[in-house]
Amino acid sequence: MKIREVKCKSALSRSRLPGLVYALNPYRGCSHGCKYCYASAVLRETRPWGEFVDVKRNAPTMLAKELRTKEKGIVGIGTVTDAYQPLEERFEITRMCLEQLLRHGFPVNIQTKSSLVLRDTDLLCEFEEVEVGFTLTTLDEKWRRAFEPGASPSKDRLVAMRDLSSRGIRTWAFIGPILPRVTERDIEGLLDGIADAGASEVLVDKLNMKRDTWAKLRPVLEEHGMEGDWRNLVRDKTYFENIVDRIFGSCETKGINCLSAF
Ligand code: SF4
Repeated sequence: MKIREVKCKSALSRSRLPGLVYALNPYRGCSHGCKYCYASAVLRETRPWGEFVDVKRNAPTMLAKELRTKEKGIVGIGTVTDAYQPLEERFEITRMCLEQLLRHGFPVNIQTKSSLVLRDTDLLCEFEEVEVGFTLTTLDEKWRRAFEPGASPSKDRLVAMRDLSSRGIRTWAFIGPILPRVTERDIEGLLDGIADAGASEVLVDKLNMKRDTWAKLRPVLEEHGMEGDWRNLVRDKTYFENIVDRIFGSCETKGINCLSAF
């Protein structure tokens, strides 16, 4: 892993994601190394994603300046890079940014695959408006390690979600991308876990294949004899719609609001 400490020109950018006004990414690059990640395509990054992290050392200082003049709006944290990847334990850039956002009264919405977010519970509890979303694609550790090798185990994410929910922080789950033949195996168990953890909402998305996604996925799929099946299924809209219907039905039974991103 190549780690560089860099200076950013600005900390906040406008977000086009629904429900967010700004995006904040304290790191560029992500050691979670998810095989389906397409952040490099979004950022037009040519370095191999998962093998480098740029630490934006001055992000908290830049943010403090920007927050003085920006109109209030929801700040999405970790929109293209997980803000709670393991390096955050050492650098605490996300924590320092949270301190600034709290000081200036900006609402935040965090999305992560890491239980490290619990470290900042003290700050999160002080926000008037805060939401924390956890991405969950499978409960099975074998598949989690295969597709999301550097992220927290799914069970740890659910424990973190439960902890935050129990403190009155609004939590939500992102079931995405739906991993063909994997996510569906124990979708009821996953949704039970999400319901038990107190999530208010589930957002679901299909698998999005971009520029170099196949290259990253191929070794995993070949190892498990799934490449041919996946090549057919990623183009099969009905396949994903059927899974989404199951998720919607189950969420309705459990009293959880469900939204689809596609
Ligand atoms: S956590 Fe998000 S940004 Fe990081 S590798 Fe996984 S999908 Fe990409």
